[in-house]
Amino acid sequence: STDQLVELDKQHFTHPWTVFDVFAEQGALPIASAEGCYITDSHGKRYLDAVGGLWCTNIGLGRSEMADAIAEQCRTMAFANPFVDMTNIPATQLAAKLAGLAPGDLNHVIFTCGGSTAVDSAYRLIQYYQNCRGKPEKKHILSRKNSYHGSTYLSMSIGGKAGDHPPEFDFITDFIHHLSCPNYYRAPAGLSEAEYLQQLLDEMESTILTIGPDRVAAFFAEPILGAGGVIVPPEGYHQASWALCKKYDILYVSDEVVTSFGRLGHWFASWDRFGIKPDIITTAKGLTSGYQPLGACIYSDRIHQVISEPGHGRCFAHGFTYSGHPIACAAALKNIDIIEREQLLQRVQQIGPYFQQQMRTLEDLPIVGQVRGMQLMVCVENVRDKVSKALFPEELDIGKRISDHAEALGLIVRPIVHLNVMSPPLTITKEQVDTIVRTLRQAIERTIVDLQA
Ligand code: PLP
Repeated sequence: STDQLVELDKQHFTHPWTVFDVFAEQGALPIASAEGCYITDSHGKRYLDAVGGLWCTNIGLGRSEMADAIAEQCRTMAFANPFVDMTNIPATQLAAKLAGLAPGDLNHVIFTCGGSTAVDSAYRLIQYYQNCRGKPEKKHILSRKNSYHGSTYLSMSIGGKAGDHPPEFDFITDFIHHLSCPNYYRAPAGLSEAEYLQQLLDEMESTILTIGPDRVAAFFAEPILGAGGVIVPPEGYHQASWALCKKYDILYVSDEVVTSFGRLGHWFASWDRFGIKPDIITTAKGLTSGYQPLGACIYSDRIHQVISEPGHGRCFAHGFTYSGHPIACAAALKNIDIIEREQLLQRVQQIGPYFQQQMRTLEDLPIVGQVRGMQLMVCVENVRDKVSKALFPEELDIGKRISDHAEALGLIVRPIVHLNVMSPPLTITKEQVDTIVRTLRQAIERTIVDLQA
């Protein structure tokens, strides 16, 4: 029964980001089936999943074509040793496909198990590259406060969300430097957007000069900070920070774990939306639309040429048992095929502006400080005071209160402290957008009533 399942889950499954005493009391909702943008729990209640799983179910769930591709590969050849003396056909085909879709000269792929390991792989590759060119001391990383790059020891240290760095864990602080989060909504009052941008760039340049350009290896940046609250940097920020990286011989790593595979209406947003050609792109999530765990670190010819030069004779000591797993790669190939065939990128370019426009109508609610985002990434920032932008006390868990009301009304939105974020499948319809906006409005109104009680 569902009750037994919930009990077993409580006893044995340690979920990500668990607050153990709360979990012991409340448990988790078992999800039994899924189709398109909808998920159904084991009581039979259906929800519109506006989060797209966890920023990942881009083509929507329950597609038999995907099941067939996965089953077919599972029957034909479920696993091959990925180390250099063997390969497998789906991995080779997918690497070539990604090289074709990625911008510039990003023609080489390290396959990983997800986004965190793609970020770790990027840094390992960077260290190896700097060593190959005789610059082992060039190993410092710039990233940003409020960024999220994953949950391994390294990727979490690169990330800059204060809540992800609790005192009980040690983080790498000697070679990772967090710059300010480029969030104009929270910029010092009175600064124009252009002045704020200049302030961010001045900070970046002075940090590089303080560390010493010869010691700074890379800048890790999400094109839009996702888990940090869907923060779209000021216009011109991407190009100007990329220019600073080029000026000081710093590699630009664009973490597109969320923003690729159609979320912003492009395969990759770095070039097609923001006009930059990174040296490395990390991706995962929409790469398989969540049907299989898979990530990738896609890197440039320039890096590849340096590490391939004969003579240095050292192995790139990095990789996983499941690097280029054939079933995951077969799922990614079918996923890409579906995005192409159903023209889902074009679809996002049509529905995305409508989603943004309709979501922004929620700004008339007394606790909605800002609705922001781009295409199919959106965030509602809830505030206690719209003028001062003061936040509710954290223990009020305002985002969670809203998402609980939304869930009761049949809508899944993701709470992050005082925020609610959404990233629906690319197949979302206008009617479903209207349902999301209408239901979320109701959930926020119910929360306001709770607060007044
Ligand atoms: N990078 C970004 C930008 C992410 O949003 C995430 C996950 O949300 C990750 C990396 C980590 O990916 P994963 O959870 O697949 O390891």
